[in-house]
Amino acid sequence: MPIYEYTCCRCSKDFEKLVFGNQEVSCPKCSSKEVKKKFSVFCTAGTERPLAGTASSGCTSCSKTSCSSCR
Ligand SMILES: [Zn+2]
Repeated sequence: MPIYEYTCCRCSKDFEKLVFGNQEVSCPKCSSKEVKKKFSVFCTAGTERPLAGTASSGCTSCSKTSCSSCR
C-alpha cells in the first residue's frame, strides 16, 4: 500500500498518509487541502527556504529553476 509523506502548505505540518487512487489528502492538523508530497514538488508557502538556486533566486539565464551548470 502506498504511504506518502506530505507537508502542509498552510501550517507546515509533516504527515504520512495512505493514499488510494486519486484520493484527496488533507492536513490532519488544519484540514487544509494545500498539501504537497514530500518526494515531488515542494511548496514554498510556510515552509523553510527551498534549496539554493530555486524559487526567487532562480537562474535568469535559463528557464530551469535549479541550475548548476550555467553559472
Ligand atoms: Zn496544515
